[in-house]
Amino acid sequence: MNIHEYQAKEILSAYDIPVPRGRVALTADQVERAAKMMGGHCVVKAQIYAGGRGKAGGVQLVHHPEHAHEVAKELFGKRLVTPQTGPQGLKVRRILVEETVGIAREFYLSITLDREASRYCLIASAEGGVNIEETAAKSPEKIIRQDIDPFTGLRSYQARRIALGLGLKGSLCEDCVQLILNLYRLLLEKDCSLVEINPLVVTKAGWLLAMDAKINFDDNALFRHWEYHDLQDYSQLDPLEITAGKFDLSYIKLSGNIGCMVNGAGLAMATLDVLSENGGEPANFLDVGGGATREKVAEAFKIILEDRDVRGVFVNIFGGIMRCDVIAQGIIEAASEVHCTLPIVVRMDGSQVEEGKQLLLDSGLNVQCVDFLGEGAAAIVRMVVQAAE
Ligand code: ADP
Ligand code: MG
Repeated sequence: MNIHEYQAKEILSAYDIPVPRGRVALTADQVERAAKMMGGHCVVKAQIYAGGRGKAGGVQLVHHPEHAHEVAKELFGKRLVTPQTGPQGLKVRRILVEETVGIAREFYLSITLDREASRYCLIASAEGGVNIEETAAKSPEKIIRQDIDPFTGLRSYQARRIALGLGLKGSLCEDCVQLILNLYRLLLEKDCSLVEINPLVVTKAGWLLAMDAKINFDDNALFRHWEYHDLQDYSQLDPLEITAGKFDLSYIKLSGNIGCMVNGAGLAMATLDVLSENGGEPANFLDVGGGATREKVAEAFKIILEDRDVRGVFVNIFGGIMRCDVIAQGIIEAASEVHCTLPIVVRMDGSQVEEGKQLLLDSGLNVQCVDFLGEGAAAIVRMVVQAAE
């Protein structure tokens, strides 16, 4: 789960990590008033669930409150397109107005989960700021890493190694050690999968400040943090993702034109692979999970059909806990309700498979049942191409 920069900064602040003074605003008038409070000179920052805003005009320096009003008017309601948003961009509905800070140096600092090493990893670079991706690609030697042992946790000598690696000395180095340890404590206590400060700056006045902040909460730990629900900004999410969340379904939007309904993440990955081997491109995939009911399958199928890119649907289900006839009923119910005429290929196996297939064949839908994954992938690709001709 993502949150906005201003929310992440509130959390950092609660962990004694210094951030610039700022106020969040919902209208251009509020932006202007906040700018006035900052003395006119300030930074206007669009709040979206993506970074790369600086280069896209989402972070602007202003010199008087009327200027702040103008910039805000331009930003509010606009879909900001950054290298991290995809071509459709994300709509700006909140703006952070922040004091302008004189910057001496910009660093990169983050802690995230290294899934291969199965542990958290601290990452830092003395060349932080808006070009960090370029630094990582062109000069990987400028990125410093510290793996964190889950049993011993992050030790202060390890944090010091990072601070020294950033070129910090004396009391600034000790401040940085403390900041890193606070960041690690935050990550653990708040169940984050990522905390990132880019840039972490040394101000001209000579202290450390988190100038940008990104926090991702681990979705698997959300049940432990009821307070996170209020932090979510639904305007930043795909509406279909929100509907899927309500029904406890995992829906992932992709860029192709074949909708995929599967049960289980492993089967989902295999389905997408075999589909692309057959020249198809998934528009999305929806994992209905283990013991889905007929209603849940129907909702899942409707979500897939609501995706405007979908030209055909590939269902790949193993009926273990789930019965194939229940799946078939769900599909038929959803497809009839929305008068679906798109081609559907169903590959299912397991309990009640014959009953399930019969229900589908009797349904009058444009459906084909197959026994094998490769055969199914080839069939849906062929049917989608034929339908387009
Ligand atoms: P993004 O990462 O989305 O581009 P940032 O918040 O990192 O957005 O802002 C981009 C750049 O703008 C920063 O690297 C920094 O140089 C500058 N900047 C951001 N906030 C301030 C501020 N309060 N004062 C001065 N400069 C800022
Ligand atoms: Mg940034």
